[in-house]
Amino acid sequence: MRAALVTGGAGYIGSHACKALARSGWHPVSYDDLSLGHRALVKWGPLEEGDIRDRARLDAVFARWRPQAVLHFAALSQVGASVRQPDLYCDVNVAGTECLLGAMQTAGVDTLVFSSTAAVYGVPAHLPITETTPVAPTNPYGETKVAAEAAIRRAAESGKLRYAILRYFNAAGGDPDGETGESHEPETHLIPNALAAALGKAPALELFGDDYPTPDGTCIRDYIHVSDVAEAHVLALSRLAESPAPVVCDLGTGKGVSVREIVAAIEAVTGRAVPIRKAPRRPGDPPVLYTAAQSAQRELDWRPERSDLTSIIRDALIWQTSCKPT
Ligand code: UDP
Repeated sequence: MRAALVTGGAGYIGSHACKALARSGWHPVSYDDLSLGHRALVKWGPLEEGDIRDRARLDAVFARWRPQAVLHFAALSQVGASVRQPDLYCDVNVAGTECLLGAMQTAGVDTLVFSSTAAVYGVPAHLPITETTPVAPTNPYGETKVAAEAAIRRAAESGKLRYAILRYFNAAGGDPDGETGESHEPETHLIPNALAAALGKAPALELFGDDYPTPDGTCIRDYIHVSDVAEAHVLALSRLAESPAPVVCDLGTGKGVSVREIVAAIEAVTGRAVPIRKAPRRPGDPPVLYTAAQSAQRELDWRPERSDLTSIIRDALIWQTSCKPT
């Protein structure tokens, strides 16, 4: 069986990718230091514990499993924390990626799918975003992802690395079978926080700003089901096996949805009100972000299949109510 090394395989998106890989005949080997990931989410292959900056450990894992490809999710991803600890973000996200690239080169592994983000675009001058929109991050997190993308491009100049860079918009929802889901501590994302408020697990959803220049005053984002995101990685591996040309794709639906629309959808799915507490704008939140979402369709033949709001919220709810480890 073909092995794939999944850095960050114990995390939210990484664990969904492991499931998608296993379903497609891959043997996913998770590499995770469990600082943010969860041992209980590694269900579709072995776990190798290790830090992404630990070259000796990476070399040993590559030698043991001889993977054909790497999916690189391991990273720090909170915008606010990146402002407080930019050096740490640079170390883990940039130096960590460089360390992984070095280990891949030594092991002769030539295929990489990299987990990037809409945060590379900052506040775009034009909407919808496309992959030709200039990168202009507005926080250290986005800067580290731009730098990591650049490190991958540099490594590919050797002619021996095939890569796909996938820039996620708002990954949301959970595994439809309830086998994995979102377990961040603390949770900062809108949908789990709004669900927690609807279910009475939190007193209220803090609504960060309702005076944005949008139709209902709240921020607009492009929410994409995490299983659709995971599937794009499997398709990227197939595409890279067929052709060495690099892939850079946004992963989104092409549709912007406001915070208030998310709240209304959660109320419709749960049949419960979401109590709201108005709060100031969260620093660094761009008013509107959504992608044209055409490259992934063209390059990977990818179509989001579960990214309607009802499916996203239903699947997030399955995890929150019955499956999430406490
Ligand atoms: N948001 C909110 N309350 C929360 C979490 C998020 O009002 O508890 C808003 C946030 O300001 C943004 C949108 O919901 O406009 C999506 O935020 P999230 O953190 O889920 O994703 P981001 O777009 O920041 O990656």
